[in-house]
Amino acid sequence: MADRGLVWFRNDLRVHDNPALFRAAQAHLRTGVVGLFVVSPGEWQAHDAAPAKVLFALAAVRELSAALAKLNIPLLVRHAATAAEVPEAVLKAARDAGASSVHFCREYEVNEQRRDERLTTLAQAAGLSVVAHHGAVMLPPGEVMTQAGKPYTVFTPFKRAWLAQWGARQAELAPLPAPARQKPLPVTSEPPPERIKGFSTDIDMGLWPAGEAAALKRLEAFCAKGLMDYKARRDLPAVSGTSALSPYLTVGSLSPRTAMAMAQHANGGSADGGQQGAATWMSELIWREFYKHVLAHFPRVCMHRPFKPETARLKWEDNPAHLKAWQEGRTGFPIVDAAQRQLLATGWMHNRLRMITAMFFTKDLLLDWRLGERHFMRCLIDGDLSANNGGWQWSAGTGTDAAPYFRIFNPTTQSEKFDPDGEFIRTWVPELAKVSSKDIHDPPPLLRARLGYPPPIVDHARARDRTLKAWKALKA
Ligand SMILES: Cc1cc2nc3c(=O)[nH]c(=O)nc-3n(C[C@H](O)[C@H](O)[C@H](O)COP(=O)(O)OP(=O)(O)OC[C@H]3O[C@@H](n4cnc5c(N)ncnc54)[C@H](O)[C@@H]3O)c2cc1C
Repeated sequence: MADRGLVWFRNDLRVHDNPALFRAAQAHLRTGVVGLFVVSPGEWQAHDAAPAKVLFALAAVRELSAALAKLNIPLLVRHAATAAEVPEAVLKAARDAGASSVHFCREYEVNEQRRDERLTTLAQAAGLSVVAHHGAVMLPPGEVMTQAGKPYTVFTPFKRAWLAQWGARQAELAPLPAPARQKPLPVTSEPPPERIKGFSTDIDMGLWPAGEAAALKRLEAFCAKGLMDYKARRDLPAVSGTSALSPYLTVGSLSPRTAMAMAQHANGGSADGGQQGAATWMSELIWREFYKHVLAHFPRVCMHRPFKPETARLKWEDNPAHLKAWQEGRTGFPIVDAAQRQLLATGWMHNRLRMITAMFFTKDLLLDWRLGERHFMRCLIDGDLSANNGGWQWSAGTGTDAAPYFRIFNPTTQSEKFDPDGEFIRTWVPELAKVSSKDIHDPPPLLRARLGYPPPIVDHARARDRTLKAWKALKA
């Protein structure tokens, strides 16, 4: 054994502010580190990873390999058909690399934790140490707790406590640099694959330039041009008012601490005051963090169970035709259809629309949120269990800090408010391209028939009553 460090890259596909990479390089200063990425199609399929997300991650691994090569760090690429085979593949790579320790950034989902525990057992039996770091969050789960030592389940007090820590520990929490260039090792890099069987997509992947350099470029451009106007523009799907950084944060091409630090710097050093646009954007990064902590503390949300156990008895409808119409963007509600078609075409959906369409799914169609959550996961390039589950359970009324059951968005008034001229609808529902701004949110029946656009699949007022009854029955 050459006493090297093996850095297993997973959700941290970057060289800057990567605690696993930085700390492993520190610990193996003289002997060096070797990187590893495990291609694990069975695991990705089992977790409903969208083909676009997998291809985006693979492209990010190729960029990572090139960035590591500049630091003389070889990257091994190994294959494991299923999650169960991953620990052995990592152990074999560690042996091949002459490593005495394995470093990685933690993933908090239940299956991933079990996989890592198995690796730890195997590695320790083989005389290797395993060191887990926190690279997907700014403050690790367990470090933001109530005075009674319990996890927060409501966002606002979580945010307050989070900001207090963030403010008090600035020097310790500053983003880490890339490790220094090491001396060349006699280990040859292995080429990351371009594609994987079972993961192909029609989405134009050119929309999403992959990798750390692209992520930092996008972050810089957003901080220079979009950050200060974020509060005013973030809810308008027809304009590019948000950062579109979620795919990069999800695969870890961008560290959340780098994003936070750069926004804070642009805001004159303040994390919660200063310009409203910047403060609101940083608050969204804290929402991301909140849902990661919730998932780490309440593993039931990884197991298809509602955060609020009493809501498990809610009677959802069984309506495959409605499910299909929603998935394909044929509900007859223009804003919902535009949103669903944006998702299918680009792998991404604007946040306001995620809320509108998820609320429509769970409240107007009274379909089980787990079906919607799964469809999103299978389509989203930024699919992330904690944020996706958090968003779906919020919309369904079953989650932490959820919208109360009687808060039901009216999709038509939401459309009038957030897409007033129908510009977004016209982009994604070409049948309605020539409809006036007045009619576009709910075209009259004859016009729909003439344009080949379907009638609404439900009557919103009646659907609302039915949902309220179902919830009242549950409460009773
Ligand atoms: C039903 C539903 C499902 C969702 N599924 C996902 C998902 O799978 N992956 C995902 O990253 N986000 C998800 N979100 C959260 C949010 O919609 C996206 O993060 C956001 O639209 C990404 O666009 P952006 O990068 O331009 O965000 P910006 O507005 O620029 O926000 C900056 C970053 O903050 C984080 N963020 C913003 N809003 C939220 C939020 N509500 N919850 C958690 N983090 C947030 C994201 O990392 C985002 O990139 C979901 C929301 C809902 C309502």
